[in-house]
Amino acid sequence: MGFKSKKFQDPYFYEERLKTITFFDKVACYLHAINIISHEGVDIKLPRLSQSVQNVRTDWKNIQKRLCDPYSGRVSTTFSDGVWIFAVNHLELSTDNINKLMLELGDCKLVIASEGGDLMHAEMKLLRALKGMGKLKSGRVEIGSSKPCCLRCRDVLNNWRAAFTSYHSIPVAENKWDDPDVGVPGWKQHPQEMGLVS
Ligand SMILES: [Zn+2]
Repeated sequence: MGFKSKKFQDPYFYEERLKTITFFDKVACYLHAINIISHEGVDIKLPRLSQSVQNVRTDWKNIQKRLCDPYSGRVSTTFSDGVWIFAVNHLELSTDNINKLMLELGDCKLVIASEGGDLMHAEMKLLRALKGMGKLKSGRVEIGSSKPCCLRCRDVLNNWRAAFTSYHSIPVAENKWDDPDVGVPGWKQHPQEMGLVS
């Protein structure tokens, strides 16, 4: 699904986001919200991760809107073989942030994909980490993000037939996007052989 608005704060985006958000997006948003709350020192009691996104208190809704701020950074996540993998842009996760998330996710393994700087978008850091772990497989990846991904990330995710919710159409300059160098899966290189085109 594409999101055409130039502004993440557009009410249309916000409504659409609430309708289409996946559990993976919600987990990414949750960690991002924990980070915003701790970074800004605001006194807000977090709802439970399992709570409906539509049915939460007003102060929490304000935090949800902060997630849509283009300058608030980004958290993305994926799950592979029992391990939650997280990556971020333009924010720093503290141990306390991670511990708060672990309280919600329960007993699980969690790693931070730290390879790549802020010019490697969080979604791409995840693909790179999966590749490094030998777990990047076409059609077998689901990505959640605290905001829609860019067109460049969308194209790479589509190459790998990864599941993700939405993208925005705000252009990202070539020199503002680091290639994760994860290659191209077989179906994309040889679609005829894979029987995907006639
Ligand atoms: Zn991107």
